[in-house]
Amino acid sequence: MRNIRNFCVISHIDHGKSTLADRFLELTGTIEKRKMQDQVLDQMELERERGITIKLQPVRMKYNFENNEYILNLIDTPGHVDFTYEVSRSLAAVEGAILLVDAAKGVQAQTLANLHLAQKLDLMIIPVINKIDLPNARVNEVEEELSILLCVAPGDILKISAKNGTGVNKILESVIKKIKPPAVGSDATARALIFDSVFDTYKGIIAYVRVFDGSFKSGTEIKLLASKAGNEIIEVGYFSPQLNRTENILAGEIGYIATGLKDPGLVRVGDTILVGGGQPLAGYREPRPVVFASFYPENSEEYDLLKDALAKLKLTDASLTYEPESSPALGRGFRLGFLGMLHTEIISERLRREFKLSLVISSPSVEYRITKQLGEVILIRSAAALSDMSLVEKIEEPMVDMEILSPASYLGLLMKLMSGLRSRYIATDYLTKEVVILKYKIPLAEIVTDFYDKLKSISSGYASMSYEPAGYQESDLIRLDILVAGDMVEQFSRMVPRERAHDEGKKIVARLKELIPRQWFVIALQAAIGGKIVAREDISALRKDVTGYLYGGDVTRKKKLLEKQKRGKARMKESGKVNIPQEVFLKMLKK
Ligand code: GDP
Ligand code: MG
Repeated sequence: MRNIRNFCVISHIDHGKSTLADRFLELTGTIEKRKMQDQVLDQMELERERGITIKLQPVRMKYNFENNEYILNLIDTPGHVDFTYEVSRSLAAVEGAILLVDAAKGVQAQTLANLHLAQKLDLMIIPVINKIDLPNARVNEVEEELSILLCVAPGDILKISAKNGTGVNKILESVIKKIKPPAVGSDATARALIFDSVFDTYKGIIAYVRVFDGSFKSGTEIKLLASKAGNEIIEVGYFSPQLNRTENILAGEIGYIATGLKDPGLVRVGDTILVGGGQPLAGYREPRPVVFASFYPENSEEYDLLKDALAKLKLTDASLTYEPESSPALGRGFRLGFLGMLHTEIISERLRREFKLSLVISSPSVEYRITKQLGEVILIRSAAALSDMSLVEKIEEPMVDMEILSPASYLGLLMKLMSGLRSRYIATDYLTKEVVILKYKIPLAEIVTDFYDKLKSISSGYASMSYEPAGYQESDLIRLDILVAGDMVEQFSRMVPRERAHDEGKKIVARLKELIPRQWFVIALQAAIGGKIVAREDISALRKDVTGYLYGGDVTRKKKLLEKQKRGKARMKESGKVNIPQEVFLKMLKK
């Protein structure tokens, strides 16, 4: 056991975690050179396409150091604020963390947020400055930031380039020397903590585990404490990073247990897998969803497919929540809960790609607290659920405490951005002379949509933020509806601050005008508040030259075609129905 080290790499997004993992994999010979590709641990199609890590990814490596062989279990983690739950679960499976900081960008908001998570668990932190090869690297300043933050001597901070490999072996040396080997409990029972899972058609649900006591091997009868399920283990193994079958997995190790169970609800992240009797291991605090959106299958027969898809996604993404919902117009669907907008986008995309589902998706909404005139209090997660404004006494919305980290030179622009939102200034702190921490209280609704992009664009990518829930506050909000060809499309309804309703309405119809394909008739797009139209755009009718491909003078054929077109147009006009493609809903999500 002395020769095992479990650790993860944490940082702000894009500081180079997955690239550093690549170098580790090469250095330890875990992945053959010819199979190597950039950010090889980002295996999901969507991760590769967007160049971001969405899922935690464990991998086991072997490394020879001073004539001893070590087993190094690394977990690569995402850096975006929406995926913090992945980070916190990874941290609970390890003894140490490499805190990676980009030499050009310096300490950013998620550097702090993730560091705090690691410190709460008493993990050994190894600070590392990455990208020292960059021409605009500010190694000395970043060194100062980190040494203040962690109270360490600047000399103790490693400086590396994950891109070309400089200094990477020094990190492995530190990992071995500084991070303690896993403590090993009793051998009387076997206990493992589930930190992730995935569905496999043949082996059933595969639980990703950290073994704390005893050992597991195939054929053993296991129990899952919280769900009270039990089964015989089909197979155990470790990550290379593919699943690699072994005889057994031992206390202190990170590996997987193929449970053979097929019902996704039975294998929960945070649950304890047990052989014999024993107490549960400390699990995880379930994350609270902050954004909600309704998902309906475009084709109502696909409801069961959607249900199945959600159960499977929930296995690989424990932060996803959902409950059934129905709407007169759309039939049966689900109300999904997310940790943020990027999370919402990613799940919509995965449902489309991995499960080939066409969906109608509502505008994302936070959870509002409505007090009715008779004193009844209800929580609503969509504007559509608030049918009658006249009975409403007050509306409260969720607030967050936000921290923005930025180079001090952007202070003015940031304050201007914040003053345009419904925020309240709390304080300004300085990490160093150049790095400022701005604190605000702000409605969650203000930041879930496009705040992140705005922040990035005004600060050339340097400012970053993190936030925590801070209760509810009363606000003057009203419901804004969107009508397409005279019909209200519930999915586009949203709650907006009264003073902004007009502008919002205008923006939405203008955006829809760009997105909805033209039809054979004119489509009116209207924004309305309680029946009063506040904005309007028209999509002009399609006029297609159906005779274009006929050359020569065949007049009768030309006439026939034109006749046919006319009939088609009349039919469409009659139904007056506008088919809104899924893309439009997806693009409306992104603003
Ligand atoms: P992650 O989000 O922390 O996993 O970051 P990635 O590993 O995906 O890297 C983000 C970007 O930084 C990619 O474009 C990498 O090629 C680049 N990058 C990572 N490490 C280095 C480095 O040491 N030097 C330079 N110049 N670029 C790097
Ligand atoms: Mg990554």
